Amino acid sequence: MTSVARSSQAAVAAVVFVLLAAAPAGARIHFGADRDSRPRGAARPAAGLIVQFRRGVLDADQRRAIRDAGGRLALRLRLIRAAAVNVGDGETLEALRERLRAAPGVLRVEDNAPTAVAKDPNDPGFVQQYALAEGADNDIDAPAAWNEQTSCAKVAVLDTGMQLNHPDLKQNLWTNSKETNNGVDDDGNGYIDDVNGVDIVTGRGSGEDGNGHGTHVAGIIGARGNNDRGISGLCWKVKMVNVRILDAEGRGYVAQQVAGIDYALRAGAKIINCSFGGPDSSPAMQDAIAQAHKQGALIVAAAGNDGVDADQKPFYPAAYPDSNVLSVAATDDRDKLASFSNYGAKTVDLAAPGDAIGSTYLKSDYRYMSGTSMAAPYVAAAAAMLREHKSSWDAGDISYRLRQKGDALSSLKGKTVFGDRLNVYRALG
Ligand code: CA
Ligand code: CA
Repeated sequence: MTSVARSSQAAVAAVVFVLLAAAPAGARIHFGADRDSRPRGAARPAAGLIVQFRRGVLDADQRRAIRDAGGRLALRLRLIRAAAVNVGDGETLEALRERLRAAPGVLRVEDNAPTAVAKDPNDPGFVQQYALAEGADNDIDAPAAWNEQTSCAKVAVLDTGMQLNHPDLKQNLWTNSKETNNGVDDDGNGYIDDVNGVDIVTGRGSGEDGNGHGTHVAGIIGARGNNDRGISGLCWKVKMVNVRILDAEGRGYVAQQVAGIDYALRAGAKIINCSFGGPDSSPAMQDAIAQAHKQGALIVAAAGNDGVDADQKPFYPAAYPDSNVLSVAATDDRDKLASFSNYGAKTVDLAAPGDAIGSTYLKSDYRYMSGTSMAAPYVAAAAAMLREHKSSWDAGDISYRLRQKGDALSSLKGKTVFGDRLNVYRALG
């Protein structure tokens, strides 16, 4: 017991430092200062550019344009005819940006903006999964839903990766049948040994979690249910596509988001969870979201943990206006808007439990974490459950049911579009 408490405390400290977790202003200012003290427009170290090409420009011509401009190709973003480009030796970002803008066939150049796990507060909490069901009415009515449906459609999780052999997760991971662990990119998709998922940060392997955030998010969606072990995800049985786009510190760039959406779509996921974000809007990411929309995919995103009105201070990707993006705020065990949660009468679609949520963690362990990062996966899992329940429901039908067949809460009035907290049973019914 003592050792559990101790390790939990240690983890809390680590997460607070790295992810800007616990909402104390000090922690947030520290992070904010770190990021905002850089002069506006100055080069972001190792961030590079995203270059989008016009329709019909051949791969070889794209590569030549990048090389001639003094850039190094970092990541192909075929979904949107783009590439992430790093600054070559002896070059500056400014010069590279100018040359690429002037290069033949180039449609648009944008800075590859940084992104991070939604800065999660982290309060060790109680010992129940109140979010799924308790005595009180602050839950999402999962047991009632489980009478109807326990398995879910495929869900992609874009995050810090997952502990792939976690005993409560491993049975619910998607596998790439065209790839083997042999040091070779067998299926020619640009990623080596992407067997149980993909590592877009390193380009190699299945995306082991070096942080803990992604493993926690995954358990909320799909910790194996009814297996006499640990906890239960909302989906007892599911194929989760592990897409590692954030490093061990929970940080990444927009290019990895775009590549992650592409990977998720190719893997056949129609539900994509995004428990991360940042203040920068990106035309490249918006294009990726439009492509996802065309392919019938729903993107479920954390509304952000700054405790602000997101209508005024948008947090992306949650804030993209596309109708296939659901922005999710967090409630606590008393069905109040969590103190850290962003809100927005115009742009935040619904709320779900996100305060002191127990889920899977590194080292085959379990842990409580708080954040809109924890609320979004409840909605993503519910979306996947609805999709499995009625295959005729498309992204629009599912979005409508999740948004408008929740529990109306007085505490959410004026805080989300419909003032509702997720109720998966009613959404199914
Ligand atoms: Ca591969
Ligand atoms: Ca291989």
